[in-house]
Amino acid sequence: HATRTQPLKQHQIIVCVRKRPLNSRELSKKEPDVISVLGQQQLVVHEPRKHLNLAKFLEDHGFRFDHVFDEHSSNAQVYAQTARPLVQHIFEGGMATCFAYGQTGSGKTHTMGGEFSGKQQNFRDGIYAMAASDVFSTLSQAKYAALRLRVSCSFFEIYSTRVYDLLMEGKPQLRVLEDAQQQVHVVGLTEQLVQSTSEVLSLLELGNSLRTSGQTSANATSSRSHAVFQIVLRCGSQRQLYGKFSLIDLAGNERGADNSSADRLTRLEGSEINKSLLALKECIRALGRQSAHLPFRASKLTQVLRDSFIGGRQVRTCMMAMISPGLGSVENTLNTLRYADRVK
Ligand code: ADP
Ligand code: MG
Repeated sequence: HATRTQPLKQHQIIVCVRKRPLNSRELSKKEPDVISVLGQQQLVVHEPRKHLNLAKFLEDHGFRFDHVFDEHSSNAQVYAQTARPLVQHIFEGGMATCFAYGQTGSGKTHTMGGEFSGKQQNFRDGIYAMAASDVFSTLSQAKYAALRLRVSCSFFEIYSTRVYDLLMEGKPQLRVLEDAQQQVHVVGLTEQLVQSTSEVLSLLELGNSLRTSGQTSANATSSRSHAVFQIVLRCGSQRQLYGKFSLIDLAGNERGADNSSADRLTRLEGSEINKSLLALKECIRALGRQSAHLPFRASKLTQVLRDSFIGGRQVRTCMMAMISPGLGSVENTLNTLRYADRVK
């Protein structure tokens, strides 16, 4: 019976890893690159053995995933193997999620939002916009045109246990309610109708400016919140939900908040992040095992994504683990890879 469940599971959950290049800071410190990508599915982490205290004695940790992207990969290549197949899925009436996971600075926002040139981000080459562009081209195909689907977008941020609308000036906080049918509602969330990729790009720019505004250190705050961008398909006069694609730039998974020098607020945020990433892992694992019990109430993140994990629809998910190649990040990198390994 092993052949009965295996292909479905592999198809339903895709787990991949992307290694970014060494950055200028790491290069100037002559930090060694400890990640070797072997082919398209394997990588090895070379970790110096601490107890020998001799860097030349390495302990190698091998991992295998659905796809491993090396430092020469482009966002378009990553997109083609991860989010693109999920666009088709929502046109078949399914629910899809795609997560960027990893430590701060590993490339989550670069992959999801687009490449940076200085402080400016080119949203056109990010996975959000590439998915939106494919949604519009699929929409124009004859077999889908007949369904008269409407496309809309939402963009919100989860910071600790609070949810903020990123498409409304002032970034209002929104309430999350669960009704008697266990349907979760983010009350008042903007769902903006869109008709072209350029309209989506404007929304991404608006959302991004709200995400980082009013903060002393933009990256410090964005690294401690989850950003959720959704493409929603609705049909009929009642605007019934047809399919939904959620693309999530997760908060940094590093354990910096355990540090005793961190203030109380930072520690609380840190434990909330840990809780949500743990709950996410458990929800994806439950999905893979086709288990009926999903601990989605354990965090705000999994609670608002509940309908993308259950609800009698076909559900597919893609986990993209981002890793930094430098020796200085090796502990975080191993934590990231072990997490990704657990959701396979
Ligand atoms: P995160 O969102 O995970 O904190 P970022 O996406 O902001 O990390 O990336 C940190 C820095 O590294 C940015 O300047 C980004 O442009 C750069 N970077 C990340 N991934 C890549 C990549 N694959 N190629 C080139 N530069 C990258
Ligand atoms: Mg980021």
